[in-house]
Amino acid sequence: MGDEAAMGNAEGGAWVGGRVFTGVRYAEALLVEDGIAVATGSRRSVLRNKGTGTPVRDVGGHLLIPGLIDAHLHLSATMNASRQVDLKDVTSRRELRARIERWRSSHSSEPVVGRGWNEEVLQDHRPPTRRDLDAISTDRPIVLERICGHAAVVNSYVLDAMELDRSSPDPVGGRIGRDSDGSPTGLLYDAALEQVPARWWRAVTGNETALAQTLRSFASYGLTSIGAMDAGPEEVVAVCRRARVGPLKVGVHFFLSARARESFTSLRDRAVVGEAEFAGVKAYADGSFGARTAWLRASYADAPGEVGLAASSEDELRTSIDWAEVRGLIPALHAIGDRAMLEVLRLFRERPRGRLRRIEHASLTPPAVLKVLDQVRPCLVVQPAFVVDDWWLKERLGMPRTRWAYRFRSFLTRGYRLAGSSDSPASSIDPWSGMQAAMDRRDRQGRSANPSPRESLSAEEALSLYTSNAGAALGHPELGSLEPGSPGDLVVLGVHTLEDAVRLGRDSVLECWRRGRRVHRARSGHRAP
Ligand SMILES: [Zn+2]
Repeated sequence: MGDEAAMGNAEGGAWVGGRVFTGVRYAEALLVEDGIAVATGSRRSVLRNKGTGTPVRDVGGHLLIPGLIDAHLHLSATMNASRQVDLKDVTSRRELRARIERWRSSHSSEPVVGRGWNEEVLQDHRPPTRRDLDAISTDRPIVLERICGHAAVVNSYVLDAMELDRSSPDPVGGRIGRDSDGSPTGLLYDAALEQVPARWWRAVTGNETALAQTLRSFASYGLTSIGAMDAGPEEVVAVCRRARVGPLKVGVHFFLSARARESFTSLRDRAVVGEAEFAGVKAYADGSFGARTAWLRASYADAPGEVGLAASSEDELRTSIDWAEVRGLIPALHAIGDRAMLEVLRLFRERPRGRLRRIEHASLTPPAVLKVLDQVRPCLVVQPAFVVDDWWLKERLGMPRTRWAYRFRSFLTRGYRLAGSSDSPASSIDPWSGMQAAMDRRDRQGRSANPSPRESLSAEEALSLYTSNAGAALGHPELGSLEPGSPGDLVVLGVHTLEDAVRLGRDSVLECWRRGRRVHRARSGHRAP
């Protein structure tokens, strides 16, 4: 980087001396002025066109790409997760207990809130129950969310406070886990989670410092925009307040939780154009594979007779779609199982054609679903990391259904808008690990939900999921590109090829720029070769 780049105050630059991937093609140089990409081309033409005050920034032979976009993550839950008991990869009840005890030693009076357990990783393949948690504490609330966020286990203290017993009916869109005699096991699924008193559930809400830290960490991966799903009033107020102070490290596009619809009127004026905007409304058609609440056409292979559940009534979903579209917002419907996909597609098809409609996850798409998808063609927002994270999927779905899971190549071939995302905290925020999963479809141990090489993507296709396609999914097709007219959101990588960047991940990110301003610079000594 030249000295001028080190000053980094002008909202732009003439980027030369490397290679620029615009999202469409490669160029020698890029000109960003007033926060907007104004030209790409040869070094000579860019230098000739630049304004006199625009600094020249030499990228030292490296590669420059559009800023990355995560089209679907949960901002508050991601912030909270770093303050909760981390139960990811816990393999035994003893380890679960040890992690909770360790956390308790520094959080003496707080309720115990944790997340990340997965019974498929536990040695006995059984989810923890209230009995396991009661052995840890009966005089303090314990709420432990499953990795997917669609199930949780609570101790008896919480069950008593919720007044849940054998006679309590399952809520609409949810389920209470029960023993053979009908008494609650402490496991709660989907809508039943909402009955946990909010004061415990959100025991560790983020503050402004935590928000700033979180956005800074996103920028260190090269992320310049995010879709903040299930946003509630607290989150919107905090982010907008921060955005009014000055430009954010990462642009935030809210998808308001369908439950928070009424608050929109009082929140909408807080938005800051280009920084913290309302993009859409998020509603749930079903749950998750892990919790066996994803809604299937035929029963789970490992739970005969169970087909999952409809997380919202048809009426609720219909209202969410119409409510969003009347206000120019994007309806974003969570659908994982093939039955949920068909229901959502039917609702989309019934209504007059909207500007842009999203299906979140679109995980299971057998031929019968693809046929309907072809007619409706919504934008699909997927999480490539799930291909490796859900390596146990064959247990749930059996063959041949697993073959129809996470069909990214099939979607691209059919010309769908396919956006990439992390669904953080359900999987790591790291967009590079997502791209790697989209390309390799296996983790280092070779595990995969559906390893089919026919569904794997090239590095450039994987990048398109996290750039132009994700921009389109946020309702901003100008994002995720460095073609003239796009915002000057870019990442300088310390490598020469996209393949190398994906292999190296975050370590390849030297700098991240948003709207022509530098928002991240790798610490020296932490630079890519
Ligand atoms: Zn999500």
